[in-house]
Amino acid sequence: MFLVLLISLVNFVGDIMGHPTTVTDTSSENEVHTYNFPFVTRSEWHARKPKMTLPLHTPVPYVVIHHSYTPPACRSIEECENAMRVMQSMHMDGRGWWDIGYNFAVGSEGSAYEGRGWSTLGAHALHFNSVSIGICLIGDWRNELPPEDQLKTAKALIAAGVDLGYISPTYKLLGHRQVRDTECPGDALYKEIQGWAHYSPYPGSATDLLNLPEIPEKVKDVMRGNSTYDD
Ligand SMILES: [Zn+2]
Repeated sequence: MFLVLLISLVNFVGDIMGHPTTVTDTSSENEVHTYNFPFVTRSEWHARKPKMTLPLHTPVPYVVIHHSYTPPACRSIEECENAMRVMQSMHMDGRGWWDIGYNFAVGSEGSAYEGRGWSTLGAHALHFNSVSIGICLIGDWRNELPPEDQLKTAKALIAAGVDLGYISPTYKLLGHRQVRDTECPGDALYKEIQGWAHYSPYPGSATDLLNLPEIPEKVKDVMRGNSTYDD
């Protein structure tokens, strides 16, 4: 409650001071929701400002599950906030992206961490970002499963996305490897999510994306090598 009041106050002061509304303002701090699991906002983990943002058209028809591989599993809020900053730096400085790639991440202590959020286009699954929310379960889940709290929060986050209208009620759940040549989200976690509600075995490979009606023609042209993402 205090957080809601504080954010309202900050926004109100911003308004009366006549600050221009920037695109980044719409992506995170202005969206205040109450969740039934611990949720850590960008400002709480001291995220850097995105270099740029584009809107994500919601509700999205897909949810893509990832693991971080590195950084390894984090088991306290402090460790997980640090992991978020490490991933954001890897993505912004190492890969030259605008921000941390994922829409959200989940730590082994059972908190969800705001990445790009519900309404901002992510950079987590090539050619698939415009139709999906990407959730990273922080850790290396090739050989072992995330702890129960981490799995539970990931599922609750998806359910919240449906309730809030950001994820289609008929969404399909995928592992990253189904849309890209990668081992992500790790063998153990991939096996686990195949038992979750809404898991879909199709698409099963990156080439299937060309047959998905949800993917914009513009993106398919890039996949066919006829165009680039330069607009
Ligand atoms: Zn991935």
